[in-house]
Amino acid sequence: MTEIGAQVTEPKVLYDEYHDIQWVPAPCQEACPVGTDVPSYVGLIWEEKYEDALEAITATNPFSSVCGRVCAMPCETKCRRGESDAPVAIRNLKRFVMERLGHDFHLAPVSVTRSQTIGIIGSGPTGLTAAQDLAEAGYEVHVYEKLERPGGMMNVFPEFRIPRRVIEADINRLLDHCPGVKVHLNCELGDGISLQELKKRHDAIFLAIGLWRNKSAGIPGEKDGLEGFYGIEFLDDLSKGIEIALSGKVIVIGGGNVAMDTARTALRVGAQEVQLYCLESREEMPAFKYEIEQAEKEGVVVHPSWGPKQILSHDGRVTGVEFRNCISVFDPRGRFNPVYGQKTMRVDGEVVLSSIGLDADNAELESLGMLDRGRVKTDFETMCTSDPKVFAAGDCAFGSSAVVYAMNHGHRAAYYIQAFLENRKNPLPYRVPYRTRRVPVAQDPLWEKLPREEQPFHGIGKDCPAPRLSECESTMDAEGVKRQAARCLRCDAETGSSDYSRRTREHIQAMARTEPDDIERHRHILLQRLKPRNNPFPPERPAHIDDLVFLSAALTRLVIDPYREACSTITVIGESFALKQPFLCVGFDEAPEEVQQALALGLAGSGCAYIGFQPLFTGNPEVEASSQDGKLRWLQLISPDRSEPRADADGLIHVIGPEFHPIHAERLHQDQLLGLAVSAPALEKAIPYALEQGFDLLLLDGSSGIDKPWTELHVEPDLTVMRDAIRLLRKINREEDISLLYFGGLKSGTDVAKALAINCNAGVFGVAMGIAIGGVIEGDHIKFDSSRTLEERRNAVESWIRATAQETAIIARCTGKTNVHNLEPEDMRSITISTSKALDIPLASGMGRREGF
Ligand code: SF4
Repeated sequence: MTEIGAQVTEPKVLYDEYHDIQWVPAPCQEACPVGTDVPSYVGLIWEEKYEDALEAITATNPFSSVCGRVCAMPCETKCRRGESDAPVAIRNLKRFVMERLGHDFHLAPVSVTRSQTIGIIGSGPTGLTAAQDLAEAGYEVHVYEKLERPGGMMNVFPEFRIPRRVIEADINRLLDHCPGVKVHLNCELGDGISLQELKKRHDAIFLAIGLWRNKSAGIPGEKDGLEGFYGIEFLDDLSKGIEIALSGKVIVIGGGNVAMDTARTALRVGAQEVQLYCLESREEMPAFKYEIEQAEKEGVVVHPSWGPKQILSHDGRVTGVEFRNCISVFDPRGRFNPVYGQKTMRVDGEVVLSSIGLDADNAELESLGMLDRGRVKTDFETMCTSDPKVFAAGDCAFGSSAVVYAMNHGHRAAYYIQAFLENRKNPLPYRVPYRTRRVPVAQDPLWEKLPREEQPFHGIGKDCPAPRLSECESTMDAEGVKRQAARCLRCDAETGSSDYSRRTREHIQAMARTEPDDIERHRHILLQRLKPRNNPFPPERPAHIDDLVFLSAALTRLVIDPYREACSTITVIGESFALKQPFLCVGFDEAPEEVQQALALGLAGSGCAYIGFQPLFTGNPEVEASSQDGKLRWLQLISPDRSEPRADADGLIHVIGPEFHPIHAERLHQDQLLGLAVSAPALEKAIPYALEQGFDLLLLDGSSGIDKPWTELHVEPDLTVMRDAIRLLRKINREEDISLLYFGGLKSGTDVAKALAINCNAGVFGVAMGIAIGGVIEGDHIKFDSSRTLEERRNAVESWIRATAQETAIIARCTGKTNVHNLEPEDMRSITISTSKALDIPLASGMGRREGF
């Protein structure tokens, strides 16, 4: 738990759990650009565990207090409760917690542990989020800010929406947590410091300069120096404490959030009347819906679908604007391309506040050719600019966005900057880290009836002495917050396999809403729930390892003595190649380096071995030094066109396709194992040959494609390779003379137990390990992204192997064995005829005769 008011020594990921591959983030969490664990914090608020909720809120969001006031709330847009009545008021819950505890919340300082430094231009949410991530990774970070205080564009948020103290609370917490982040104020790129100079000073540069130049509407009469005509400087000057007093009639142009802030601020500094005109229709207006509603409540009059035609003036002073009606704003491909109609109107006004958008403003970047149409040219996939040492993100690179998207850019950029500094080529694609704290579900009995409640809205406030500074809303009270948290459906508690699945809950809710005598409706719901499954075994189903079962009669041996003894999983291949578990792994030759490193550490730590054309990547000395587990054992796959035998391999396995052909195979030293990888058609010739040549092992390739990545995803394994190998060896009485490894479709410890019972010595995992280490199946490949750290992947490998080995051992114990290699074909039955035939295991029904063995 994160302590409040005290230094915290544990990292922020303390509560994070990500070991359940069944877990799917709730829609609100998935929608959050920084992956906030919304359901957990909502659940914790309902339980009144505010300190724990604070930990969940702040874990990936350094501007949690700011977001409690001005977040774009993509979570609420996706909230499933919105499908029935209205979304949970998630942002207001965050505000409550941050107001209550945020001021006294501190994170333990992180130290600078690396020699490289990074220069960040801009101290807005993008720049500072990246600064925090990089400081947490051990870098010294220098942030250059052109203003006299940090915060970047957050500084122009009007005080009535977010008081300055709230922004400062987040920034101060971040800077206290990261003493290695040095902020240089009044330091503008191109004015005292040049990019060239910063590149010499730092190992990487990150541009997060925001957008500060007003976009021009390109219409007659729009000119600098026109009295009564303002752009972003209206809010900027006010934020600096410069007094601006308006009077009379004010015209605001623009339909975004900045336009709303501008219009509402104008009312607070003396405007008698504020008329807002925008190109977009009401539905298309980019401002948040609640901002528009609040502006209207305060008196702003909104006129959608009107674009400015010319600014009217007299004697250098604004007198009004001529507008023309806008028929459409975007073309069929979604590009900004307004089409105007014939209608025009003239609107009188003493002041015009233009808020139609902003561009990046930096002469130096312009002169270096790094700007394109008001944006820093940046590749979103890597956050790289045209200069390999310079990265960019946030508004200046991708256009105006809310704070929460700016933070996403900051996290993303920090990830790619770190990869660059660590010289990692082709890093895994960045992915928002989704985590769950697995907060137990407990709900108010009235949860279904409780309505959405808003926090108290005051608007400008009657007779307010300082309307510009007075907040337009106040924080909900504890009772209101609890009622709101109770409305959450806790979509995170659904795993698809649990009894508490989304479908089940929806059925419960549907039944709860029906009248008791609505028998038809009940019948319909029940029929859905009780719908019979399709026949799981269509006649054409091929032999499948799932169709083998261990005899339930054998399981009764659980109670006898061997159960109490340890069950050995030690596995010896050839004369003396010993593994702690009967598992090997194959197929990661083309996996990203970070995945290979984690797998190497996990396999070494678990006493398993790797099979591949190359050894797994272990080129990171830091990783190697941290390994207590010694060298990973590696059996090299050899095929004439792909690999030459290497002396550093523990074994050489020559890959023979379905057609047998003699090969030249010899050990490069006497401890090296020799093996053949064979599929079923080649067995008849390969087995006598391997025995004659003194091979130690046969790798029985049920997939007929062990030399290709993830072949199990598109090939149904041919289990007959095990049956035929045993038959042939038995026929010549040589089954003890060579070790058998099986590859193809193994997913679990039970699957390996079946292969061992058929007389193999070990099982080889491919896709199953890919999933265990965090891969996701996409078509016929496994894709990896950055959602897990190296340590998490390594732990995942070790945990999965431990659990899988236990599963194999439990099966062996249940059948009365104290060694997994004592499992026998007699312990199993087939439940399909095809599997019975393919493996010579009798049918569970007792029909059909077992052959061989
Ligand atoms: S109901 Fe709760 S868990 Fe589901 S989307 Fe809404 S806030 Fe998230």
